[in-house]
Amino acid sequence: MKHLILLCDGMADWPCEELGGKTLLQHVDTPHFDWLAKHGRNGLLKTIPEGFHPGSEVANSSILGYDQNVVYEGRGPLEAASIGVELAEDDLALRCNLVCLEGELLKNHSCGRLETEEGDVLIRFLQENLGSDKVHFYTGVQYRHLLVIKGGNKDLRCTPPHDIPLKPWRDYMLEADCPEAEETARLLTDLILRSQELLANHPLNIERQQKGLDPANSIWPWGGGYRPKMTPLTETYPQIKTGSVITAVDLIRGIGRYAGLNVINVPGATGLWDTDYEAKARAAIDALRTEDFVYLHIEACDEAGHDGDLCLKQYCIESLDQKLVASILSQLSTFNAPLSIALLPDHPTPIHLRTHTAEPVPFCIYYPDIESDEVQTFDEVAAKEGSYGLLEGDAFIKEFMKI
Ligand SMILES: [Zn+2]
Repeated sequence: MKHLILLCDGMADWPCEELGGKTLLQHVDTPHFDWLAKHGRNGLLKTIPEGFHPGSEVANSSILGYDQNVVYEGRGPLEAASIGVELAEDDLALRCNLVCLEGELLKNHSCGRLETEEGDVLIRFLQENLGSDKVHFYTGVQYRHLLVIKGGNKDLRCTPPHDIPLKPWRDYMLEADCPEAEETARLLTDLILRSQELLANHPLNIERQQKGLDPANSIWPWGGGYRPKMTPLTETYPQIKTGSVITAVDLIRGIGRYAGLNVINVPGATGLWDTDYEAKARAAIDALRTEDFVYLHIEACDEAGHDGDLCLKQYCIESLDQKLVASILSQLSTFNAPLSIALLPDHPTPIHLRTHTAEPVPFCIYYPDIESDEVQTFDEVAAKEGSYGLLEGDAFIKEFMKI
């Protein structure tokens, strides 16, 4: 048996008044999702354990069966894995945004549109001037980079910069959470202030300002942690000899790497509504010809949810059904082993809330000869009647892998 998880980020939603009280999944015509639900078994899955925020990194690694109380280390280490930086045991990895300050206010967390090439120039410049045996800056993507502090203490109180647009940044400077972390907090505060002096007059920033663009005039480190203690899936589930992750999102790529999966990059995968759904399906099908497991993650619905755009989210759901799932179902008989498919979102991103919630999500597992339940459609309401009931922890992945 081969295994394919189709992870539709943020696809679950709330009932909408403008849809006559239905959710988008209930409203949109999704014959291929429904085929899976009708021929498979269904249930609800709690993807966000108590005490954790409903972030995609929490939800996706929970779906893969990882206990967040053991593995959760924040975004920094995932960023490191995503860009291929090996962390030593005592390396504290922090997400390092290049942000735009305007006087005393944090204007934005992303400098408007910063190209990766521009970010690379600035990060290399910071590494030259601030780097040391203890401090290392690495280029990531656009405004999202990595700062590694050798021997750093992770007990810091940091604020994600996207949470404080137009707020006075000095009020949110990172602080030590315990006396042992004070040295690390002092070092990071010093790096932030020195980065501001260095970046203020960098030619690239002067050029950006002349063009009317936001300068990248400060670093903002946050989300620090150590290398997570994640057992590769191939060890936990010996029936998986090799597997891959397909995603356009850094965090999910990082989780995939720590889970021992290969990373497949698909040209045309954007992480947005206009992603190439068919290309992602083809990449998954090709990988499954030789591998046992693929985690296929599609971000589009989540972005549409954050935009609060009902029509766009509808388009994404239709595309997932008619371009992605349809392509995969059309190939079912062509594999050299039966294929088990799980379909689920990681968390709801309701269009009327425009951010994630921690409610359980609908899921469906299908494989040839599975004894199907009564559920006929794939949506939040129908899944409540599914024969799996409500699962949590690693119960979902164990069910999926025991076949
Ligand atoms: Zn997500």
